[in-house]
Amino acid sequence: MTIDQYNFAGKKAIVRVDFNVPLDENGKITDDTRIRGALPTLKKILADGGSLIIMSHMGKPKGKVNAKFSLAQIKDAVGAALGTEVKFAADCAKAADDAAALKPGEVLLLENLRFYPEEEGKPVGIEKEDPAYEDAKKEMKARQKEFAKTLASYADCYVNDAFGTAHRKHASTAVIADYFDADNKMLGYLMEKEVTAVDNILSNIKRPFTAIMGGSKVSTKIGIIENLMDKVDNLILCGGMTYTFAKAQGGHVGLSICEDDKLDLALDIIKKAKEKGVNLVLGTDCVAADAFSNDANTQIVPATEIPDGWEGLDAGPATREAFAEVIRNAKTILWNGPAGVFEFDNFTAGSRAIADAIVEATEKGAFSLVGGGDSVACVNKFGVADKVSYVSTGGGALLEAIEGKVLPGVAAIKG
Ligand code: AMP
Repeated sequence: MTIDQYNFAGKKAIVRVDFNVPLDENGKITDDTRIRGALPTLKKILADGGSLIIMSHMGKPKGKVNAKFSLAQIKDAVGAALGTEVKFAADCAKAADDAAALKPGEVLLLENLRFYPEEEGKPVGIEKEDPAYEDAKKEMKARQKEFAKTLASYADCYVNDAFGTAHRKHASTAVIADYFDADNKMLGYLMEKEVTAVDNILSNIKRPFTAIMGGSKVSTKIGIIENLMDKVDNLILCGGMTYTFAKAQGGHVGLSICEDDKLDLALDIIKKAKEKGVNLVLGTDCVAADAFSNDANTQIVPATEIPDGWEGLDAGPATREAFAEVIRNAKTILWNGPAGVFEFDNFTAGSRAIADAIVEATEKGAFSLVGGGDSVACVNKFGVADKVSYVSTGGGALLEAIEGKVLPGVAAIKG
């Protein structure tokens, strides 16, 4: 079933969205991209005359109630975005009465699904090494099914529009789909769009294909880096990863973020890139700071010669130009992860140079896909989100899809 084919009139729809939006210390939303992303699906259901039960996670409360991660904080923003009042169910597993009382056009937001360990389905309070772990896991999986069944009981149909969590086999993203027949479960518009964007990039690669991977660590990106090496012509690695590569090659990185246990891996990536004929582009110079602070003193130094007590927090001018040159000539572009600590205004130049070059290439006809929370925050901060071809709401999900993995959230619906 597709969302366009479905008539929601008189139906109750339970919709998994990804409203894991960043909040400031006062609980105010700092970037509402994810809420805006789900609006077409939510509005279609209401416009058809359906009623809406919205469910999401927020943060990592690890199976416990934690006011810091309460979705009550975003209730009014969701209401404002939808242009209607939103009711709130303070316990997502005890919302049957609230759901039953919903009239067509009404909206109910459930409290954070991850206040229940059943959502993620991982046993709590027991280590993997414990002999009782396997039994605990089995028990938790059974509880996860019950939890999913409860959620399913609130509604006539299920829509998954949470691309950000589509790579997880959680109660609300995958298990719940078992309780609806094929005619009553579907992907939302955002999911459809995301899946199509990935298909686009994988099935119709125009060359040169340039991937830019940034962020803090090599370890969290290694799967995708290795996979991309079979697909791309140019691979730009930037951000905190720069210093693991610099050290691996005998450089001195001072206090820069560096994964000492990944030095061999870095050398292996350099070797593989050579073997596969991939142009691996690493930072050569950096903006080093004497503290992890926006107001730190700075100096431009080679990425391999950072003085003691200093740390590289952004790409230097030569690096920025080298990155931009490669990006400007690309025909297909994937960007995930910033080139520096872009949250500090004084260390945005590297990420800005990448964003500007992507915009330039896109204007010349390249297909550019930007994904992952931080890269999205970057393009929003620089005001260029509408000047790239596609901004994905997914981080891990986008990368796994590009790695060619089948996303459980998609498989649960499409089979
Ligand atoms: P990730 O979650 O791995 O994509 O990393 C994103 C984070 O990497 C952002 O919060 C950046 O501030 C951070 N980051 C980027 N470059 C550096 C750097 N040179 N040193 C420390 N953190 C960095």
